[in-house]
Amino acid sequence: MTETLLYEGKAKKVFTTDEPNVLLHTYKDDATAFNAKKRGSWEGKGKTNATMSAALFAYLEQNGVPTHFLEQVDDTSIKTKKLDMLPVEVVVRNLATGSIKRLLGFEEGRKFKAPIIELCYKDDDLDDPLVNWHHLREIGVSDEDIEFCEELGFKVNEVLAPFFDERGIILVDFKVEAGKDENGNPMLADEISPDTCRFWDKETNEKLDKDRFRNDMGGIEEAYAEMLRRVTS
Ligand code: ADP
Ligand code: UDP
Repeated sequence: MTETLLYEGKAKKVFTTDEPNVLLHTYKDDATAFNAKKRGSWEGKGKTNATMSAALFAYLEQNGVPTHFLEQVDDTSIKTKKLDMLPVEVVVRNLATGSIKRLLGFEEGRKFKAPIIELCYKDDDLDDPLVNWHHLREIGVSDEDIEFCEELGFKVNEVLAPFFDERGIILVDFKVEAGKDENGNPMLADEISPDTCRFWDKETNEKLDKDRFRNDMGGIEEAYAEMLRRVTS
């Protein structure tokens, strides 16, 4: 397979392949937080994130969510459709933690009456600001695409919250991205992993996600390994 590096991000390398419109995403062990102001790395991170993303994309497809996923190639690599990405990060929240506590003064762990969607403009230089439909229209995102992003966020939550609940995990919040294929069909893209979701153990409230790295809590390698075990067993 002839691969050309198309893009190197903070957590993945994205390669073109000799198949048109097919990309290879290689997940790195590197981690960043606070818009790359904090950096780290631990063994097994790439494997957990690639394998968990592959399993969750396949499960979402089975449950009616269109995704970019094609196949897992090895421990740290997956093939996906090549998409034109929408410049939007869709955040879905079931319980309060992280930035919404600062935004609205909510107490940690407040359970929302209904899931809350936030739309952010994907722009590292601006720190991915929280935006509304009016901002996104001005940036050039169509109403149809914004609506797709919101519906996608809710649907992913509807499918994955019970999936994790059965595995003893609370899906606290998460971020997803979307893009369109060469025919203009919109679908779920990027990754779903402990980098992009907050997972709390249902019995102990133990954090099993990137917050352990963000907040120097230790046990990060074990937390990622535990999440991989819960998803794949
Ligand atoms: P970042 O850009 O935030 O540092 P990553 O290291 O995860 O993130 O790099 C992956 C990049 O690839 C992201 O910019 C993401 O939006 C993009 N991407 C994810 N899925 C696809 C896809 N199917 N087609 C094209 N680009 C994608
Ligand atoms: N998130 C992400 N990438 C980002 C910002 C947020 O994957 O660039 C995820 C994060 O892991 C969490 C959810 O989106 O699951 C909500 O994040 P929040 O806005 O609370 O982020 P904080 O500012 O606390 O890091």
